[in-house]
Amino acid sequence: GLGLLAACGGGNAENAEGADNSSGNGDGNDQTVGLAMPTQSSERWVRDGENMQQLFEDRGYDVEMQYGEDDVETQVSQIENMITQEVDLLVIASIDGEALTSALEMAEASDIPVVSYDRLIMNSDHVSYYATFDNFQVGVQQGEYIEEALSLGDGEGPYNIELFAGSPDDNNAYFFWDGAMSVLEPYIEEGQLVVQSEQTDFEQASTLRWDGALAQERMDNILSSEYSDGETVDVIYSPFDGISRGVISSLENIGYGSDDLPMPVITGQDAEEASVRSIINDNQTMTIFKDTRALAEQAVNMGEALLEGEEPEVNDTETYDNGVKVVPSYLLEPEVVDKENYEEVLIDSGYYSEEDLQ
Ligand code: BGC
Repeated sequence: GLGLLAACGGGNAENAEGADNSSGNGDGNDQTVGLAMPTQSSERWVRDGENMQQLFEDRGYDVEMQYGEDDVETQVSQIENMITQEVDLLVIASIDGEALTSALEMAEASDIPVVSYDRLIMNSDHVSYYATFDNFQVGVQQGEYIEEALSLGDGEGPYNIELFAGSPDDNNAYFFWDGAMSVLEPYIEEGQLVVQSEQTDFEQASTLRWDGALAQERMDNILSSEYSDGETVDVIYSPFDGISRGVISSLENIGYGSDDLPMPVITGQDAEEASVRSIINDNQTMTIFKDTRALAEQAVNMGEALLEGEEPEVNDTETYDNGVKVVPSYLLEPEVVDKENYEEVLIDSGYYSEEDLQ
């Protein structure tokens, strides 16, 4: 069915140029994997997609890959099209983890196994397996970085902190937040960290679709309402590089990043090129590196096992409850990156070249 797949695309390919990346190596395996990815607007997802496509093809599968470009309806219809075209396996990194229940019912009716990629698909019993990073640990690492950078454990403070969270329709966002708050909340309660905006709930701090422009807008508002009387921001807890860059723009616009007014300590996640450059230039402070090469390989291993009727390898069977079942998972370890170790972690490992970061 490759000819048909390539010709039909995903139905919505016209919405996003280059979003239809159907391909295959035609070595006769005859099985097709449908990859539904969330967006090309953040580098990591482009790499995740490329890596998985490459690995599946190397192992003899045809690949139908579609990006939903952060539009929930687009992703739903891309997945439905893949099912109609009888792919043999679906690997899905969801946009809205709560929006795929009926699409997955279709997959179940057609006996197509589903691997949830990086983000847990909620409210469905047809999520076969989950490949991701230890998302709670991501938050812990971000929180501990702040704790150490400010010597909070030695009683230092008070410092002003503002908090950002990820997208409320992404289960991961709650894990990052909970992990970070497991470290930071005691300091907020003790008054060593002060949230001038008083926006300390996930809901208040959340950023729909992880949109950096929304984060920038929220930061603008917080700065003008809470920090125009001489208070300065000392720390930003941000779960994602794109959000961090939005916040940094907001801070730069009112003069942060100078000798008189240094940038706050700012966390992030994904080691996106622009943010690693920002770290090198002393704007963002740290990020979390999640090696998408390793995640892609894990997901491809899971998928291949499912296609061959074998049992995929997992290392966690209790953490990821999607509301209907606890999904057997393989969790990879995230890694802290800052100015001290970025060369070792990102360049020496071949993830980036030196030129990428110039
Ligand atoms: C991923 C993060 C990413 C975020 C925004 C999350 O689901 O786990 O790595 O920063 O989405 O794309």
